[in-house]
Amino acid sequence: MSFTLAIVGRPNVGKSTLFNRLVGKRLALVDDQPGVTRDLREGDARLIDLRFTVIDTAGLEEVTDDSLQGRMRRLTERAVEMADVCLFLIDGRVGVTPSDEVFADILRRKNAHVILGVNKAEGRAGDGGAIEAWSLGLGEPIRLSAEHGEGMDDLYHILRPIAEGF
Ligand code: GDP
Ligand code: MG
Repeated sequence: MSFTLAIVGRPNVGKSTLFNRLVGKRLALVDDQPGVTRDLREGDARLIDLRFTVIDTAGLEEVTDDSLQGRMRRLTERAVEMADVCLFLIDGRVGVTPSDEVFADILRRKNAHVILGVNKAEGRAGDGGAIEAWSLGLGEPIRLSAEHGEGMDDLYHILRPIAEGF
């Protein structure tokens, strides 16, 4: 059996970079798939021996009349509903921002199964961000570098028992 992982977080934290790393060239989807708007990209992910569906949330970068927070909330809620587990990314070089706190709040209220990822943490760059991330109240943060492929083994070890539940 398989499961669905949604990557959520504010713009520019590296969601699409991680999505692309997990999906490689196996991008399955999308625009014409029922129930999936251009704001949600879906692909077939592979991580070592795990196979799962991954959802990238996008569209928050676009300038519209709609407030960013409103769109953020709706998009994240939709992703949470589609997903078995959410990977909430923050930027380890920037640390925790007010937007990150809004996301954390949504995820806690939704009772979502959340993995907290501190991205852009190649080398020691994410050390400060990883410590700050504890304040989000979402458990132990894992350090990732979507761009350089670091932390993928930690992600695997967290996802593996989840995968066994499906
Ligand atoms: P998204 O808006 O959350 O989808 O973020 P993107 O995947 O588009 O990435 C935003 C920027 O962060 C891009 O310039 C990426 O190259 C950069 N980026 C993504 N992952 C990493 C990483 O692990 N380390 C560093 N240093 N930069 C990254
Ligand atoms: Mg993106």
